[in-house]
Amino acid sequence: MLTPGEIDYLNKIPKDKKVKVYPFDPKATEVAEETANSIHKIHPDLEIKHMGASALKISGQNDIDIYALSNSKHFDKYLPRLVKLFGEPLHKHKTFVEWKFKKSGFDIEFYLTEPPKEHIKIFELLKNNPDLLKEYENLKASMNGKSFKEYQEKKYEFYHRILDTKIKAILFDMVGVLIFKKVGYIVKTKEEINAENIERLFNHLDDQKLISDIKIKLNLSDSERENACRFIPEKYERFEKLWTFLPKLKEKYKLAVINNGNSVALRYWKEKFDFNIFDLFINSAVEGIKKPNPKIFLLACKKLNVEPNECLFMDDSSENIESAKNLGMKTIWWNKEEDKLSLMSKFEKNVN
Ligand SMILES: [Mg+2]
Repeated sequence: MLTPGEIDYLNKIPKDKKVKVYPFDPKATEVAEETANSIHKIHPDLEIKHMGASALKISGQNDIDIYALSNSKHFDKYLPRLVKLFGEPLHKHKTFVEWKFKKSGFDIEFYLTEPPKEHIKIFELLKNNPDLLKEYENLKASMNGKSFKEYQEKKYEFYHRILDTKIKAILFDMVGVLIFKKVGYIVKTKEEINAENIERLFNHLDDQKLISDIKIKLNLSDSERENACRFIPEKYERFEKLWTFLPKLKEKYKLAVINNGNSVALRYWKEKFDFNIFDLFINSAVEGIKKPNPKIFLLACKKLNVEPNECLFMDDSSENIESAKNLGMKTIWWNKEEDKLSLMSKFEKNVN
């Protein structure tokens, strides 16, 4: 379904206007950079984005789209010097000002604009999903020489499709979403103390390094290490409200855990918490990739047979959230300041 604004725009396109699609020209990147630099020189505080086909390095109409992002309240502050640089704008609207000019053979469209959120989202989705980008480029190529109106309509439909996808899988972080540290847990036995010391060494991704550190720095034998490791999960408990919701979610969604951590204590975590309800449990040490590396999210998608934009991902690390978001995943950041129950209700709203 197209929006009224889009239909309005389509209706204004002359019927005989044709689209011409050119292969990507690397020179466009240079020209875009030069233009962005010239803006940056006069207004270093403006955030500048080069978007569109030339920024995605795919075939397009041989034009370059550059956006300077600002709240419209501040347009007046930027306008005088921009006019000096690029001449009088073509249009002045409430939320954006538009220039069109030629530079080194390229048509440049420059906007001083409120951040075009949808547009940025589409751009990021395409930038981070090679399959989607290929599909988009093929769509453009298939329209070469045809009606511009039809071309624009096909593009709108494509944008809506990639933005409106239904959630098919939910990906959970382990500690900080599914599981939390018990309040007031007191360490008493020798094994519990060893477990605590082992946990302090946990920052390693490499299991072998962790095992050798446990041996050398903590002076623990293999069997002492195993005895201690079973106590590591004991300090944690389930966030029950979320776990009781899982069977209901399972009816509609694929469920997965993406866990950053070593595999030394992994079997004890699995024994204590029983992740059998999940379709997939990914551990960073086992896979050799850790969050926020996008590869771990793509691996989860591949194993679940879903696309990134069909996933909802929840984590207490903002870096992990950012990375998943860049792939087009829907995300909820379980930030530590916010009450767990309010995060839970945010989650429930997103999956109902
Ligand atoms: Mg976490």
